[in-house]
Amino acid sequence: MLSDIEIANAATLRPITDVARETLGIEPEHLVPYGHHKAKVDLGYLATLEDRPLGKLVLMTAISPTPAGEGKTTTTVGLTDALHGLGHRAVACLREPSMGPVFGMKGGAAGGGYAQVVPMSDINLAFTGDFNAIAAANNLLAALIDNHVHQGNALDIDVRTVTWKRVVDLNDRALRDITVGLGGVANGFPRQDGFDIVVASELMAIFCLTESWADLKKRIGDIVIGYNRSKQPVTARELDAAGAMTVLLRDALAPNLVQTLEGAPAFVHGGPFANIAHGCSSVVATRSALRLADIVVTEAGFGADLGAEKFVDIKCRKSGLRPDAAVVVATVRALKYHGGVAVADLGEEDVAAVERGMENLRRHLRNIREVFGVPVVVAVNRFPADTESEMEKVVDLCAEEGVQAFAATHFADGGDGAISLAKGVLSVLDEPSPHEFGFTYDDDLPLAEKVATVARRLYDAEGVSWDAKAERRLARIEAEGYGHLPVCIAKTQYSFSTDPALRGAPSGHTLHVREVRLSAGAGFVVVICGDVMTMPGLPKVPASSRIDLLEDGTIVGLS
Ligand code: ADP
Ligand code: MG
Repeated sequence: MLSDIEIANAATLRPITDVARETLGIEPEHLVPYGHHKAKVDLGYLATLEDRPLGKLVLMTAISPTPAGEGKTTTTVGLTDALHGLGHRAVACLREPSMGPVFGMKGGAAGGGYAQVVPMSDINLAFTGDFNAIAAANNLLAALIDNHVHQGNALDIDVRTVTWKRVVDLNDRALRDITVGLGGVANGFPRQDGFDIVVASELMAIFCLTESWADLKKRIGDIVIGYNRSKQPVTARELDAAGAMTVLLRDALAPNLVQTLEGAPAFVHGGPFANIAHGCSSVVATRSALRLADIVVTEAGFGADLGAEKFVDIKCRKSGLRPDAAVVVATVRALKYHGGVAVADLGEEDVAAVERGMENLRRHLRNIREVFGVPVVVAVNRFPADTESEMEKVVDLCAEEGVQAFAATHFADGGDGAISLAKGVLSVLDEPSPHEFGFTYDDDLPLAEKVATVARRLYDAEGVSWDAKAERRLARIEAEGYGHLPVCIAKTQYSFSTDPALRGAPSGHTLHVREVRLSAGAGFVVVICGDVMTMPGLPKVPASSRIDLLEDGTIVGLS
């Protein structure tokens, strides 16, 4: 089979103006084209759709990720293509890829095989410039903070408490901890600082949760950058930063429209991390898509314990959006891995390991149905080495849980490979839901109780323990009036516990909280359990070493 980039490069793309008109009824004057195959949809036009009824929302999530790869993005595209092929007005809503993983280890994030969004290389490499705009706005605030201190520090900012970092959209470990302001009196006051990757910034989370320029400006104003020497929070509003930062984001806030390899429409917009942020593409894109289409398929990050939980408890809570169904992506390989098989042995048939690993999928299914109250089906994303008996085992075990599972071969076959999955999703959408949608916890629960509730209900943890410092920080955040916010738990994606080595479905473990951070503009409190990377590094042989430009302008080596 050809590589992802070979397939994408060989595709014949249709003008985005044609795709927009034919699939979504958007006339060219409502598009802001970026070349021939990418366009932003004008926010003014989208505002005129306000009274339209909303389509159905399908959440794409997964079992706990493994080094073997699951394929949420690929399955989002495959399912959208299948629905499109069946004559439905369907749209995919995806996150914009970060260039950190593109040049680092994971590679791109535009799907895979014959289930991709295109132009693949554009989408993976800076795209329509949204991340540049977010970085510029973020770094403007950082510059304003240091300048404010240099110019006399009227706000009495305690530079030791500044938490607002500079950002860049690359993996660069050398920037994690740095000193700024060296070089003498003209260069400000030296202080310890650091860079995060753009997708880990609070501004990225704000961008993805806001729905208007006015709300964007308000949220930016609410950002707490640190404390003054009387220990009071200092906001971006006090630094007069909000207006100029919003100006930088003005155009970026309009959602980006592209197409799948099969000509279905896809919004690719915003891309926050799924650990210290909520991991979903923008609310602007989701809501616009719901007004333009009958069915919207959107992906949340990591496994359902992190991604779907934040989709529900943060994105849905704040936007009022509700998923009508969820698809959990599982693979035979990942189930075997959760059943204890080593990565090197995943190519060998092992039905018993599939059965053992099912405990991981089973718990995610329970959480989605019983905690979030969302009807669910399973997509078994087929990899080349998976055997018939292994595939059948997954379908049978899901049936025992009362959940329909569908083998899907969209990676190899495009939308045709996901037709039975699409029909399964449609049948679930047609039936009245047997569940009632709910959040994991209520707004008015104290922050520590919110964490304990997620740990108990979703992770099957016995309890939560806190570093003394984290506990003090939490108390302070509560005292400052942020206790009503939802929590955004950052823990390893590989396990229900905080130990990445505990595969399957561990219970009785303790969730240990190491650090607490306030994201007042985004509107959540980040609860950090274990080590969380906000500026990844590059591996010994980075993906960038394979990426090249040929004489004829062809980009090669992207994966
Ligand atoms: P996620 O969104 O869950 O992180 P992706 O859809 O990005 O996962 O897929 C992860 C990687 O696995 C990608 O490189 C993709 O091309 C590959 N992949 C996905 N599905 C398959 C499959 N069925 N067969 C082979 N490779 C696949
Ligand atoms: Mg993905």
